[in-house]
Amino acid sequence: MSEPHNYHMMPKEFRHYGKQVIDWIADYYEQVEKFPVLPTVKPGDIYAKLPDHAPQSGEPFADVLRDMNDIILPGVTHWQSPNFFAFFPSNTSGPSILGELLSAGLGQQGMMWLTSPACTELETRVMDWLADMLALPEQFHSTASGGGVIQDSASGAALCAVLAAREQATDFAANSNGANGKLIAYISTQTHSSLEKAVKIAGIGSANLRRITVDEYFAMRPDALHRQIQRDRHAGLVPFFVCATVGTTSSNAMDPLPEIGRICRDEGLWMHVDGAMSGTAAICPEYRHFLNGIEYADSFCFNPHKWLFTNFDCDCFFVANRAALIKTLSILPEYLRNQATESGAVIDYRDWQISLGRRFRALKLWFVIRHYGLEGLCYHIRRHVQIAQQFAEWIKASADFELAAPAPLNLVCFRHHGGDDVNKQLLERLNKTGKLYLSHTVLADRFTLRLCVGQTTTEESHVCAAWELIQKIAGEFHKLKFF
Ligand SMILES: *Cc1c(COP(=O)(O)O)cnc(C)c1O
Repeated sequence: MSEPHNYHMMPKEFRHYGKQVIDWIADYYEQVEKFPVLPTVKPGDIYAKLPDHAPQSGEPFADVLRDMNDIILPGVTHWQSPNFFAFFPSNTSGPSILGELLSAGLGQQGMMWLTSPACTELETRVMDWLADMLALPEQFHSTASGGGVIQDSASGAALCAVLAAREQATDFAANSNGANGKLIAYISTQTHSSLEKAVKIAGIGSANLRRITVDEYFAMRPDALHRQIQRDRHAGLVPFFVCATVGTTSSNAMDPLPEIGRICRDEGLWMHVDGAMSGTAAICPEYRHFLNGIEYADSFCFNPHKWLFTNFDCDCFFVANRAALIKTLSILPEYLRNQATESGAVIDYRDWQISLGRRFRALKLWFVIRHYGLEGLCYHIRRHVQIAQQFAEWIKASADFELAAPAPLNLVCFRHHGGDDVNKQLLERLNKTGKLYLSHTVLADRFTLRLCVGQTTTEESHVCAAWELIQKIAGEFHKLKFF
């Protein structure tokens, strides 16, 4: 009997179009500098180009690929352009993309050791490698009391940290009885918004989140933190969690980890360290000092999907005491019971994260680390920092511009002397050229431009060209007597 008709893409066809897709991606990277970094589409343009209804009959794959060029490509922001300097980067690289492809090909669901031993054990090994590469203290290794896990995001990691901290502070009672409304969490005025979200989701309540003031360099003030903790204790409240940041999103400020860490140790609070982008720098021995004080931390995360040449989504989350995290998040319904789990000899990463299911994300990270080697990774991270530092020097030497904050690594915050309106106009005009993309922030109530060097292939020439364009457009302002 022959097989009934089906609609699947057969291996022969898959092989054919698969090669075309790889070529498409390679072509894209060869041409990415030609596209305007920000697309020129208006809201609704892309939606309107797509059919009102899903197709009744399947379409040729060639037509789908054609629409990638005609409809999708004109509507994407080119994060992988070396002239993308906005926000923080969202990295990719050849080995990472290929690792993602293989992950898709294998289609693993690695919720437990049993459902994919290789997915679990490669992740454990790669996370131990990274703990080594960052010179994290012993307790963050799987061979000691803790270990690492790949999360979808720094936001997901922050939520896990807040939940584990909440349970530790309540002797694991909040999981059954709910949070008691007295737990107090501490961040700075510059901490990423994902911490507020985590505090809301975890039932702590945003009214129980304290935003500690920062110093003139936008770093959390430990004296203010200490005073606020005392005030809350006197009011009968229960301080339980502090997040310190290595490289804030707005200005790359470095919270003083040793001072904050000692307060957390003395007061018995969970310390989470958010190093989303800048944590990566610690793989280079000369930048490892940014993690000094990490020995006090209960948890730490950084994003290879920001600045370690690895595709989104890939946040590496390390805990010093995995038992607290697992006890907080583990649930064992009958249908997931199995001997490997009962034996206690394996890791089931579903107990280390919010969702049950998980992709084989360690593959891309493993490919990246093996392709570049520690040497190659450090080389490119250093290059980015050097290029950003050079840009910062140009700003300092310029008569028209000034630095708006210290530039410890690869983010430079700067502004024109002409005031907020001039800086806003300058940003708009620069981004309209399509030749680069910068974003902004507000520091000490003043509109500030940000240039972040972190896209995988950004080189000195790109930042040189950016500086020339910035000066040229600012110069046109002079002629127009804008100020
Ligand atoms: C980008 C960023 C985050 C959020 O990262 P996601 O992985 O997108 O959730 C958190 N903290 C800091 C400091 C960041 O820069």
